[in-house]
Amino acid sequence: MTHQQTSHPRESAVLQAVPTQLLIGGKWRPATGERTYQVEDPATATPLCSVADATPDDALDAVTAASQAQPQWAQHPPRERGEILRRAFELITQRHEDLALLMTMEMGKPLAESRAEITYAAEFFRWFSEEAVRISGDYSVAPNGSGRFLVMRQPVGPAVLITPWNFPMAMGTRKIGPAIAAGCTAVIKPAHQTPLSMLALADILIEAGLPDGVLNVITTTSASAVSEPMIRDPRVRKLSFTGSTAVGRALIEQSAQQVLKVSLELGGNAPFIVFDDADLDAAVDGAMLAKMRNTGEACTAANRFYVHADLADEFARRIADRMAELRIGRGVSDNVDVGPLIDQNQLNKVDELVSDAVSRGAEVLTGGTRHDGPGYFYRPTVLTNVPVEARLSCEEIFGPVAAITPFTDEQAVIDQANDTEYGLVSYLYTRDLQRALRVTEALQTGMVGLNQGLVSNPAAPFGGVKHSGLGREGGKVGIDEFLETKYVAIGGL
Ligand code: NAP
Repeated sequence: MTHQQTSHPRESAVLQAVPTQLLIGGKWRPATGERTYQVEDPATATPLCSVADATPDDALDAVTAASQAQPQWAQHPPRERGEILRRAFELITQRHEDLALLMTMEMGKPLAESRAEITYAAEFFRWFSEEAVRISGDYSVAPNGSGRFLVMRQPVGPAVLITPWNFPMAMGTRKIGPAIAAGCTAVIKPAHQTPLSMLALADILIEAGLPDGVLNVITTTSASAVSEPMIRDPRVRKLSFTGSTAVGRALIEQSAQQVLKVSLELGGNAPFIVFDDADLDAAVDGAMLAKMRNTGEACTAANRFYVHADLADEFARRIADRMAELRIGRGVSDNVDVGPLIDQNQLNKVDELVSDAVSRGAEVLTGGTRHDGPGYFYRPTVLTNVPVEARLSCEEIFGPVAAITPFTDEQAVIDQANDTEYGLVSYLYTRDLQRALRVTEALQTGMVGLNQGLVSNPAAPFGGVKHSGLGREGGKVGIDEFLETKYVAIGGL
């Protein structure tokens, strides 16, 4: 089924090894009517291969498989559930280079970034392999001394997992890891642009010994038509979604019908605040990481830089110098720092946001235009004196564009930082301990990077407040999203 389009032998070998069908009940099978669609390389805008294009009936078959596997999987010994995840962690680690190349081909991020994501993704399996055996309950004497309380935790049941294209594997392992550890079966639907990393991951889980039906994979170009019947199906008990806030809102409404347990990791609009007492070298390094990780296509990407007026010019100049040095190209080469954006829509959106800011008076220090090529490249860009009315002050840029605004007053910058519907992450650079704690407490975000430009870590609770989502992924609480609490009132004692 794969239509090989690349002439590079290693790329061809990596592509040929990936399954391209749907995984339902432990079997790879074509979509109804043998429907397929082409997966594109965003660096060349040419097809890489074709994969199955599932219909709503295929999706309901996957729900059937997940629901049939659920009772036995819930009884599966936690140690064995953990060991499957551990073996998958080891297989991903062994195949690190091939998986990174595959991710770069379908998503565009440079190899170094793909390697980092594969490591990050695998760590969720290692973390949750350890958590599988730590699902505990509680036993206590009722306050009046009569009777006892027993509290137990049980898998919530079959889950629908929906993931975006920007972290094609990590957004999957962050959901699949806790689902498997908790004893839940699942149907996962990756983004249509990046199905290959998920298909490769599912193949690894089968090799690691995952029983049939525990994880089912549906690739499709009909996201809404395929997801809605699954979410409304009474056999499903859980929805975990990562993606945009607009789609998240629609899915909450759909989930209301079956009163699903819902976790949502949605959009962000992260402020990055640099106070006048900050270590400027550290702030510049942190800013490059917070802005340029994943070419800016991250929910955690710094979207608005607020820099104290005493440092703003030097900060902007140093960021512009660093941005101007970055090498743009197809990420499969180790000599590339910045890959393409995911598609034409994303490229157009970044271009529009920059044009809008410039038309309102922002100044371009570097970049500011598309980069030539058949793929979807945009030049790393630094804008200064960005007015608050500019669209990129309130919309997610999702591209390599740093928008810098000077400030002088602490309370005013906190108010500006919080003046958004989003609340995923904020970044703060200061060497004053009291200020650090005062501002951290005042920022309305689920996560804060304090003198640090990267917050993502499988051992930490990742998630947002306000319109950035519900629930947390990773850390000790990540498994809670896939567990229900049952309380038993014991009489006669
Ligand atoms: P998106 O359009 O919301 O898509 C995310 C997923 O939802 C994809 O699998 C997509 O499938 C599917 N989808 C789209 N429309 C749907 C619908 N009507 N019903 C059901 N499923 C639907 O988001 P995106 O543009 O791909 O991803 C970028 C967004 O994700 C950004 O807002 C980013 O901040 C957010 N994000 C958040 C986190 C976090 O942890 N908070 C992490 C990463 C990304 P198709 O691809 O087939 O359309």
